[in-house]
Amino acid sequence: MREQVTKLVVKNTTSLKETIEAIDKGALGIALVVDEGNKFCGLATDGDIRRALLQGFTLEDKIEAVMQKNPVIAKTTTPRSTLLQMMSERIRHIPLLDEQGEIADLASYLHRVTLPVAEPEVGDKELEYVTECITSNWISSVGKFVTQFEEEFAHFCGTKYAVATSNGTVALHLALAVLGVGAGDEVIVPTLTFIATANTVTYTGAKPVFVDSEPDTWNIDPEKIGPAITPRTRAIIPVHLYGHPANMEPIIELAEKYNLYVIEDAAEAHGATYNSRIVGSIGDMGCFSFFGNKIITTGEGGMITTNNKEFEQKARMLRDHGVSPDKKYWHPVIGFNYRLTNIQAAIGVAQLEKVDRVLDRKREIAMFYNSLLKDVTGITLPPEASWAKNVFWMYSILIEEEYGIGRDELIAKLKESGVDSRPVFYPIHTMPPYRQDIVLPVAEELGSKGISLPSGIGLKDEEIERVASLIKK
Ligand SMILES: *Cc1c(COP(=O)(O)O)cnc(C)c1O
Repeated sequence: MREQVTKLVVKNTTSLKETIEAIDKGALGIALVVDEGNKFCGLATDGDIRRALLQGFTLEDKIEAVMQKNPVIAKTTTPRSTLLQMMSERIRHIPLLDEQGEIADLASYLHRVTLPVAEPEVGDKELEYVTECITSNWISSVGKFVTQFEEEFAHFCGTKYAVATSNGTVALHLALAVLGVGAGDEVIVPTLTFIATANTVTYTGAKPVFVDSEPDTWNIDPEKIGPAITPRTRAIIPVHLYGHPANMEPIIELAEKYNLYVIEDAAEAHGATYNSRIVGSIGDMGCFSFFGNKIITTGEGGMITTNNKEFEQKARMLRDHGVSPDKKYWHPVIGFNYRLTNIQAAIGVAQLEKVDRVLDRKREIAMFYNSLLKDVTGITLPPEASWAKNVFWMYSILIEEEYGIGRDELIAKLKESGVDSRPVFYPIHTMPPYRQDIVLPVAEELGSKGISLPSGIGLKDEEIERVASLIKK
């Protein structure tokens, strides 16, 4: 037991007076009561004791007489996300008991004085499926969960096929490799995105060509793609940034006109829709990430979705060292090891079971933020085009400096109050490896004014209110 928790423990025969002293020393406002066998038997808050004294108990009475005999408790193995759901303004501490019923630790709401921008939510199902991998010994990249995860994810996206990869970055690299993109080629990408979108193009030897964003969606501006196309252009990678789908129709039209491929970078937008079509099913291939802060997670992980059988088969082959599908250990081409493990896929299967709830809560959080921030001068709320369903991966807004403080100052102020936030992505053409003497004004403005706020689905409404009121202040 942690020393901090030891201080809170008293015997059931302890007097109210001594219990008050223990509560005072522990500084959490509660005492944990154990019986003569050292098993947990109750909990007392300073409020419980105060009420008892008002009712006529004396300081010499035993704590046993006034303690809560059936408080909320949990096991040491209870997942953190479940504990958070069990807590509230009223229940701020939950004793964690071991197999013997002895106190092993205390879970406290106070641990959440810092609100993270994002956090994974893994629970009992994930544990159950991962345990199955361990007990059955299927822990590497072959196993039933990999196949199941691929099939169910394809179903989720409405595509015929899905190929799991070890992360989202290599999903993009693999998709480019499938298309044979390489040295001498150009690939069009938005400048406002996570750096991986551009890096994967560079890995192939091709050159990423950066295009500005449109103010209405923050995504690649289809009107600015045309002028960026050259005879060397092979593909376009629209990114569905922060969960808002890119404007796909004009992008697909351009691709058809100039004979280009379209790879959707859907790493941040699982379940988002463009005119009712789910992202990842619109271009030639879609690429997803299951990193810890994404909509659903496998720790690290990725996926390629496609309706093209040839692409699927090539992706499988290149994912596995370019091995021949018909002849083991025969490698007609150079491939990679980009496989996902059965353990990761097991987590993914459990995450997919609850993806609808995750997406509902994401939207709820965004709508609640919107309602709290909509009338604040100097704030632009996140976009949602009429044809789009934004899944609000990270709730992001724009801050106009002239109405108060600037974005970076706001991030620092929020940090002081225990609220994590982060700037939206810096446009890639402004960073050292890709620095270019060009101006892409919309992306540069979004990049300088945008801030992403805590958006994890474990957030409670009162925590969202706290963030909103800090911003208003
Ligand atoms: C997260 C992300 C990636 C990369 O995914 P990883 O799984 O972290 O490798 C690629 N593109 C975008 C837009 C992302 O947000």
